[in-house]
Amino acid sequence: MSEIFLKLLDALNFKPHNRKTCISCMEEKVLSEFYEIRKGAGKYRSSCKECFGKQEIKRNLKNDSDHYKAKYEKVKESRKTDEKYKEYQKNYREKRKEK
Ligand SMILES: [Zn+2]
Repeated sequence: MSEIFLKLLDALNFKPHNRKTCISCMEEKVLSEFYEIRKGAGKYRSSCKECFGKQEIKRNLKNDSDHYKAKYEKVKESRKTDEKYKEYQKNYREKRKEK
């Protein structure tokens, strides 16, 4: 790589110390708009607080649906071995046939 190219890269990467570009909204924001990964370490998350918040909501929603899916699977599983439920299903099917 030529020296000029490296200098150009340097110039492009140059950001005032207290600013950072969010990888989610691509906006350059002040560091106070980012969460610190570790307090005092000077390392910040790559998404700003706003985007990070949005991602967190999405994550929580996903966890929620996973939680309910697992619950549903459990019920389904227990129904397989539930004689009363089998009986109920049989009756239900027979009732429908009658119609
Ligand atoms: Zn952002």
